[in-house]
Amino acid sequence: MIVTGTFGASPYRIRDLQLFRDIDDPAVAQALADSRLVRLPRGEALEDGLRARLYILLAGSLAVEGALGEGNVERILPGESVGEQSVLDDAANLDAIVALEDSELLVIEPDRVWQLIDGHNGVARNLLRLLSFRIRATNARLRRRQKLGEFYRQLSFNDGLTGLYNRAWLNDALPKLVTRARQDGGPLSLVMIDLDHFKRFNDTHGHIAGDAALCAAAGVIRAGLRPTDFAVRYGGEEMMAILPATPQAQALTVAERLCVRMREAAVFDDMRLPLPHVTGSFGVATLLPGQDERGLIEAADAALYRAKEAGRDRIGT
Ligand code: GH3
Ligand code: MG
Ligand code: MG
Repeated sequence: MIVTGTFGASPYRIRDLQLFRDIDDPAVAQALADSRLVRLPRGEALEDGLRARLYILLAGSLAVEGALGEGNVERILPGESVGEQSVLDDAANLDAIVALEDSELLVIEPDRVWQLIDGHNGVARNLLRLLSFRIRATNARLRRRQKLGEFYRQLSFNDGLTGLYNRAWLNDALPKLVTRARQDGGPLSLVMIDLDHFKRFNDTHGHIAGDAALCAAAGVIRAGLRPTDFAVRYGGEEMMAILPATPQAQALTVAERLCVRMREAAVFDDMRLPLPHVTGSFGVATLLPGQDERGLIEAADAALYRAKEAGRDRIGT
């Protein structure tokens, strides 16, 4: 940062600066006459011990990385200012300010800023307007970030291959669903699904085809459920359907439907022959009084085991 002179001796005019927009009062220009001009070469950061000063960019451009951090960089163009908030609340401006190109700045000391605010309504009004813009922009940024956070949260709850809910989601959601079912006194059913001889499928058709088969199976489950049900990839080739407000008999019907559709589903849409297909074994359990989510999963798992034992491609209870 190099001091190059004073504003009074420079060719810049106050009416080109946002803070002094529509102000023709020569007293304002006069009050700024001895304020310093500094040059900030491209790539250099604004190093300033005090940092509770107002800077107005006269030429060049600046990048301001604010307290919100994480790549939130604001670009400052000629006529715009930085640091007005620090002057107002007398707190250091902790933003990292870097010149994107060779830049020239007007530095206004805090006392001088207050003098301008006290003496010139127009300056006070412009300052309020600038602050209002900043608040609005910050709010918009926070909203965007909140949405992004929500997006990533969703992403972390979905399985990357099948798009079904994943284990993390299950750990979070199933206890809540169990609690709700208990409170409402309504039934809650669970269908545990395991693809049959899937190791063999992989060995025969390859893992890429295996992945496609998993996706097809997930699609069958998703399409076979009501909007209020949940489809989860429990792990590997094991999936789960959670059926709130569904008694055992109805859950069996759902499992039967899924089993038939799984058997009939085309794993590939090309004309490969013989057409590979997958089947699944299904274990159905309905929440018992006093049972927790672990007990419910264990019951469904035991039912699934019985379906496997009985010959696969069927429902166990
Ligand atoms: P069973 O009928 O008794 O369930 O036999 P299985 O072969 O399906 O059971 P096993 O547990 O022996 O093998 C599961 C197979 O599932 C082995 C594993 O390679 C495969 N698998 C698990 N996750 C994936 C995956 O994401 N992609 C692919 N392609 N295969 C997977
Ligand atoms: Mg398995
Ligand atoms: Mg299996």
